[in-house]
Amino acid sequence: MNFGLTEKQIELRAKVRDFAEKEVKPVAAFNDEHEKFDVELTKKMGKLGLLGMCVPQEYGGQGLDTLSYIIAVEELARVDGSTAATIAADNSLGIGPIKEYGTKEQKEKYLPKLCKDHLWGFGLTEETAGSDSRGTKSTAKKVDNQWVVNGTKIFITNSATPMTLGSTIQVISGESNGKPEFTAFLIENDMPGFTQRPMDRKMMWRASNTGELKFNNVKLNDENILGKPGDGSHIMLATLDGGRLSIGAMGLGCAQGAFEMALEYSKQREQFGKPVCKFQAVSFMLAEMAMKIEAARELLYKACRMKDAHIPYGKQAAMAKLYCSQVAAEVCDKAVQVMGGHGLLKDFNMERFYRDQRILQIGEGTSEILKLVISRYIGC
Ligand SMILES: Cc1cc2nc3c(=O)[nH]c(=O)nc-3n(C[C@H](O)[C@H](O)[C@H](O)COP(=O)(O)OP(=O)(O)OC[C@H]3O[C@@H](n4cnc5c(N)ncnc54)[C@H](O)[C@@H]3O)c2cc1C
Repeated sequence: MNFGLTEKQIELRAKVRDFAEKEVKPVAAFNDEHEKFDVELTKKMGKLGLLGMCVPQEYGGQGLDTLSYIIAVEELARVDGSTAATIAADNSLGIGPIKEYGTKEQKEKYLPKLCKDHLWGFGLTEETAGSDSRGTKSTAKKVDNQWVVNGTKIFITNSATPMTLGSTIQVISGESNGKPEFTAFLIENDMPGFTQRPMDRKMMWRASNTGELKFNNVKLNDENILGKPGDGSHIMLATLDGGRLSIGAMGLGCAQGAFEMALEYSKQREQFGKPVCKFQAVSFMLAEMAMKIEAARELLYKACRMKDAHIPYGKQAAMAKLYCSQVAAEVCDKAVQVMGGHGLLKDFNMERFYRDQRILQIGEGTSEILKLVISRYIGC
């Protein structure tokens, strides 16, 4: 697992694993059952340096590379998908675009708070804009030097918690050659006309916050624009490339956690006078899981290393997201099989992993969209 990592990355893994075992694992099932977004736990993760991991130290971040961040997400997902989702969405989707495209003033205004104890959302999806983000209907119209924003966003992670400062949103800001022009705006939660509502009753990530955002004549200034007017679509889609690595890490961590649970169980559980792992049908399932997890880790870490080396990594990010989410699905399914009826009981935790993995084939590019992306990269 640690082959090829630096001493610092190995130390970080040990630190996050220790935190995940001691602080996250004991509350994960309760938070899932009660759909509780855990503010205290999230603040503890802020203190540990898990918010703003890749933000330069001058803005209050940890100044780490992508691979280090991905290892942290993997370790959280090894015990709980919801907690991993909070950290992954905040680092890559929330903080990521401000760090990459923000002005000095925007970075100074938001990043120190976001690296400490606040969250930020990434508002792309709408009722009419899922895989096709150009289906955005929210608008920003210039009236007397101000932008007046109207519309609705759905499914926005971390956007409606008591710790949320605001969100980046894509809106139509005009027209160019008869086509809508998209702009990204930074919008703060306490702005008049802007409301947020948690979307509950999810199958998975039940302790992660998912919000619906409504804009009713919200007045923004040019200073709220992220990047340049008209660059919105590019900013949002480029952010998703990085986000795909995070989803890959969640798939990898989820698979690792499910595998470890199933392996341990199969050594304890005896039938016909011996541990069930001694039956070849069971040990072969475990062997396949172990192999696929290793392959997934190599693919994901390679994509991270390419990003850190400033080599175009879009194809590898799409492959890593697709493959890690497929491995998570397969491993969780087989892990339930290895655990028999107990794998289906909430008290045994496997059931939560089985549910949590499902979103990974949908969020930040469905598996079908990722296959389209990869097809284009390979020249189809
Ligand atoms: C818990 C959760 C958290 C989320 N967090 C965020 C967030 O923070 N920010 C945000 O902006 N969004 C977020 N999303 C939204 C998520 O990114 C979308 O759900 C996802 O992009 C898919 O869009 P959709 O659900 O509208 O599905 P659709 O786009 O309606 O897809 C339906 C089906 O059609 C298929 N399909 C669509 N187009 C094609 C095509 N061209 N070729 C082949 N098949 C196609 C899809 O693969 C899928 O199987 C979140 C979603 C969930 C559930």
